[in-house]
Amino acid sequence: MKKIGVLTSGGDSPGMNAAIRAVVRKAIYHDIEVYGIYGGYSGLISGNIKKLELGSVGDIIHRGGTMLHSARCPEFKTKEGQQQGISQLRAFGIEGLVVIGGDGSYRGAKALTEQGFPCIGVPGTIDNDIPGTDVTIGFDTALNTVIDAVDKIRDTATSHERTFIIEVMGRNAGDIALSAGLAGGAETILIPEENYDMNEIAERLRKGQERGKKHSIIIIAEGVSSGVEFGKQLKEATNLDVRVSVLGHIQRGGSPSASDRVLASRLGARAVELLIEGRGGRTVGIENNKLVDYDIIEALDKQHKLDLELYKLSKELSI
Ligand code: ADP
Repeated sequence: MKKIGVLTSGGDSPGMNAAIRAVVRKAIYHDIEVYGIYGGYSGLISGNIKKLELGSVGDIIHRGGTMLHSARCPEFKTKEGQQQGISQLRAFGIEGLVVIGGDGSYRGAKALTEQGFPCIGVPGTIDNDIPGTDVTIGFDTALNTVIDAVDKIRDTATSHERTFIIEVMGRNAGDIALSAGLAGGAETILIPEENYDMNEIAERLRKGQERGKKHSIIIIAEGVSSGVEFGKQLKEATNLDVRVSVLGHIQRGGSPSASDRVLASRLGARAVELLIEGRGGRTVGIENNKLVDYDIIEALDKQHKLDLELYKLSKELSI
């Protein structure tokens, strides 16, 4: 393999830049040329492709977002779009592609692989919802952003003796909510993987107040319900002074944590190694701190599993 491409797709996440840097540097180290595809699959279809040099990825390891930009591209879900993408890659002499992104981006990489163009999926999303890895690039940073916000909200919740509902991201996964709730000492954590009972929540809040608890933090994953809607229902059920804070896109930005930079560097480099070994059509990930790779088609058939032990623990510690 003499030429490879790299793109970022779907929702951006902190650490994507560190992953791009690792792909570029590792490839050049092995005398392979690297082409950056700008704007995800959209840029692939339109041929927005430029050669990257060692210096192209200088000074980006600490930056959030993605220097290659990202996009949602419905056209790439069609066979015509995918064929057009492959034609562009071949026109540049590119023989393998590293796709850094989430679940949807993996599906695009899988489609290309099935049509004979080898791709490697690198898990880049704050949601931590990708099978084939314990953790995704960006999750740790997003978690730290959420914790920072929760700590600040706790200050005001304590001062005003209020119940706060904090809505966090995660799409259909509860990982951010669960870990942030545990690390932020939330009284209640609501995740899409588990049903909740409004009466039980109201009862917990009431008991807490009886014990002298003056404030409460409830973390709700966006996959459960909107925080505002849940807030209305909670107010009806308890008559408490409820406030809602929707953290939104601040969770996606910011300088990647050390842990995300290390993860991104390891996974980006491993993706290039797999292409060098002629093993396209794989996903890279980390399990028990060891690098792993899986067939991209099989990986997508699996379900990401939330650590329910953590959920149990969070309940025990928030009595
Ligand atoms: P993420 O990668 O963060 O999950 P999306 O789900 O929006 O984000 O997917 C990103 C892009 O991946 C989409 O805009 C589309 O171009 C491509 N994609 C998503 N699903 C498929 C699919 N089933 N087949 C081919 N391409 C897909």
